[in-house]
This record gives sequence, C-alpha cells and structure tokens, in this order.
Amino acid sequence: MKKFQNYIDGKWCDSSSQQTFENRNPANKNELLGTFPKSTKEDVEKAVQSAKKSFESWRLTPAPKRGDILRKVGDILTQRKEELAKIMTKEMGKVLLETRGDVQEGIDTAYYAATEGRRLFGHTVPSELNNKFNMSIRTPIGVCGLITPWNFPLAIPTWKMFPALLCGNTVVFKPAMQTPETATRFVEILIEAGIPNGVVNLIHGAGSEIGNAIVEHNDVEVISFTGSTEVGKKISKSAADTLKRVSLELGGKNAQIVMDDADLDLALDGVLWGAFGTTGQRCTATSRLILHEKIHDKFLEMLLTRVKKLRLGDGLLSTTDVGPCVSESQRNTVHQYVEIGKKEGANLLIGGEFATEGELDNGWFYKPTIFTNVTPNMRIAKEEIFGPVLSVIKTSNVFEAIQILNNTIYGLSSSIYTKNINDAFAAMRDIKAGIVYINAPTIGAEAHMPFGGVKQTGNGHREGGWTVFDFYSEWKTIYVDYSGNFQRAQIDS
Ligand code: NAD
Repeated sequence: MKKFQNYIDGKWCDSSSQQTFENRNPANKNELLGTFPKSTKEDVEKAVQSAKKSFESWRLTPAPKRGDILRKVGDILTQRKEELAKIMTKEMGKVLLETRGDVQEGIDTAYYAATEGRRLFGHTVPSELNNKFNMSIRTPIGVCGLITPWNFPLAIPTWKMFPALLCGNTVVFKPAMQTPETATRFVEILIEAGIPNGVVNLIHGAGSEIGNAIVEHNDVEVISFTGSTEVGKKISKSAADTLKRVSLELGGKNAQIVMDDADLDLALDGVLWGAFGTTGQRCTATSRLILHEKIHDKFLEMLLTRVKKLRLGDGLLSTTDVGPCVSESQRNTVHQYVEIGKKEGANLLIGGEFATEGELDNGWFYKPTIFTNVTPNMRIAKEEIFGPVLSVIKTSNVFEAIQILNNTIYGLSSSIYTKNINDAFAAMRDIKAGIVYINAPTIGAEAHMPFGGVKQTGNGHREGGWTVFDFYSEWKTIYVDYSGNFQRAQIDS
C-alpha cells in the first residue's frame, strides 16, 4: 500500500497532525489505493508562507521562461499519458477512453499556456497630451488557492494552475479527497519540469477544514474553485471578508434539445455520450432531453435500445461503457433523486436501481436510468443529480424548448440538434448558458475556448482560452510623461 505526502516549500512532508485518510477504488471498494495526509490549518499556514516567499522571485522570472517550464510539463504529460489515465480511472472510475481525454486536455492547456508566455499582451494607447506615453500591462497578483473537484482530476487543476503560474503567481493546490494520487503525480511532473521550490505547494485533506482555511487566509489573494454550487456559495461568503478575487465554476443541469428535423442518429450518439459518459458525473453532463413531440416516441425507442446495451464495469476494461459512481454517498444521492422522480409522477423507463450483478457488487455502480413524462417543474428536471439519470421532456416548438431548457438555476452547457438555421440561431441567441452546441452534445469543451456558465453555475469568470489570463493577472496602467512640462489631463489638452 502506498503512502503519499504533501509538498510544501520544495519538500515532501506528512501532515503536522500525522493523521492520514484512505482512498479506495470506486469500482472495487476492497482495493485500497493509498493513504494521504489529513492536513491541518498549520499545514495551510506553511504552504501559504512558502508560496508567498517564492512569489518574490517567480514574479520576476520572464513570462517566456515560465512558459518554457509549462511546455516541459506538457511533454512529460504526453509521455506519461497512459499511466496517468490508469491512475485516474482507478481513483474515480470513468473509463480509460475518457481519462486519456482528461490528460490530453491537460497537455493542450500546457502548450496553450506556454505559447501565451510570449504574448500576455497589454495595450498601448495614444495619450491626450503631447509627449506622453500610455500603456497598460499585466502584472502577477500573488498567492492563488486552487480548490478542485474529483470528476476531472487532472484537466481542471491544469486549467487553473497553468494560467496562474504563467502570469507569475504562486500556488497552494488542494485537490479533492477522491483523487489525491492524480494530484500528487501532477505535482511530481511540475517538479521534474523544473518548477522552483515553493512556487507550487500541494496539501491534501478535507475541504471544510483546509479548503476553508485557504479561502480565509489573508495572504491568499486569489481563489479559484470548481465544485458544487452549495460549497461555492460558502466560499464566496468567506472570501468576502478579505475581498479576494474569486472564480467559481459550479453545478449544471444541462439539456439537449432534439427538433423534429434533426439527424436522429447523430442526436442519439450525442445524448448517450452526454448523459452516460463519466457516469453522468460531469458538470456539463446531459441531464435533460427535450424532444419534439413529432419524433418523441421514435427517438425514445432508439434510445432505449442503445441504453440496454451499455455495459457497466471497471473503467480499466475495454469492454466497459459506463463506470461506477465515485462513492457510496454519490450513489445514494442518485438513488434519492430516482425516488423523488417516482414520487413526482415521472415514468421510470429503465434503470432506477443499484447494479449488483457479479463483480459490480464490489463497486458503486448504478444502472443507466431514464425518466419519461417529466414536466419542467419537477425537481428531477431542475436540480443537479450528478449521476446516470436522464429526464425526458416533450415539447411542441423551439421557443417552448428553449424556455424549458432555461428553467433552472444553472446555465453551463446546452445543445440543440436541428437542420433549421432559423431555430439554430434562435437557440444561440436565447439559451441562457455559457456554452451552446449546435448538432453536438453538451460535452466537448476545447482548451483554447472560454469555459464557464451563467446564473448559479458561476460568478462570471471563465476558465480556458484567452479570457482566463484576465483572471490571473492584475492590470496596471502606466503613464510616461516625457515632455518635461507639468501637464494636466482633462485640463491642458
Ligand atoms: P464539492 O463542492 O463537494 O468539492 C469540491 C472541492 O471543494 C473539493 O476539493 C472539496 O474538498 C472542497 N471543499 C468542500 N467543502 C469546502 C469548503 N467549505 N471550503 C473550501 N473547500 C471545500 O464538489 P465535488 O463533489 O468534488 O464535485 C462535483 C461538483 O462540481 C458538481 O456540482 C459539479 O457540477 C461541479 N463541477 C463544476 C465544474 C464547472 O466547471 N462548472 C466542473 C466540474 C465539476
């Protein structure tokens, strides 16, 4: 059994409490993957002070040089892709095809950030006065606390860490307790690539203890959090006391609309991937299917045939389509929602129970589930379930479909399948979501595009793409007066 440590100020170390927690394989609860430090506030203090000290030299390292280190990180991630994918599958259950994709997203993010080291553009703008030069430049901010979930154990940390480092900030990284080995391997790779001591600090442990201590710390200037809306709200409140900059990427209740003119085979592949990929445990998962009444029955028949064929199992096996839920409590939450759906009067078409046949009994498996006759105001149509449960709602036209899609507190991803250009453009305009896909599933973000949601999915920031560099840098406006005269803006021009 492997024993893992924290990484603070360039050294691997145990928690000051000497306490540890276990991590187990959700596909086989008897498999203990390792023990990890259960860190304390004291450990947070050490990690923050280490990041604060190293900020003074890292901020002065030229951005292209910082980018060079990230390029090496991308190279090592490429070499170790298969190994990392397997670790991730064992830790959180999704199938190898998807964990390989998770690593690839990290690789893409590394190379994108590396090239940004030679850009990080500012602006030069004409002055209103003679012999005066105006510019605005990006400056590093300081220590960033990065708090991440388990469902994209590598990709999400890279979305946060690479732009934070590229912009010249230092980092205290607290990964989810379900995926601590992936986080540890990631930090090992940063070290191998040459990240200086203290620039990246890793601490394992419970969010309510050390996550909150990071958020409340006076010397942490930035918090980037991805996780549930419930915890996001708590973080927003605690961070208000020190007025730190906070990015929140939270829950979703995404829908796919299928119109009567859609390519149904294409839409079918889309909904299967969107609803049951990663066992429905993606922030962008398709949780609702809004079907035009003219194709409703036919499409459901096609869907049912395919869902019956989905094979549950260990994500390491090439025969597996759907892995387990991440934990016993996550599976219980899913089941509670199924009970709620039944009580609300929805029709349980398939699934709705634990999968316990043979080896499946060792893990937290749940049968792919579909509810039909769902109405827009049912809880299963509005609340995030985060499991393999799809709620099907009937509609008669595109405007009603969009209204149903928008009928939730969330606004992350969305999708519409149609060949009608007018309907597609109406959807692009009227859907309230950070991401809209036309003729593609709700899944499929690319590393170089902005990622994030509206309403209670977030607080207006975006990860990925060019926009993330605004979050991790501070604009400084500089005026250089080379006239030798006393000049007054708004008065002497
Ligand atoms: P979670 O909110 O339970 O935990 C996320 C992280 O926050 C973990 O590291 C956890 O230890 C930490 N944490 C918990 N309580 C804390 C506290 N009081 N203070 C500080 N940190 C705390 O979420 P999860 O179960 O790991 O992930 C699933 C959720 O994440 C879903 O709601 C999903 O939609 C969301 N998610 C959103 C996105 C997005 O980009 N919008 C991406 C992936 C996941």
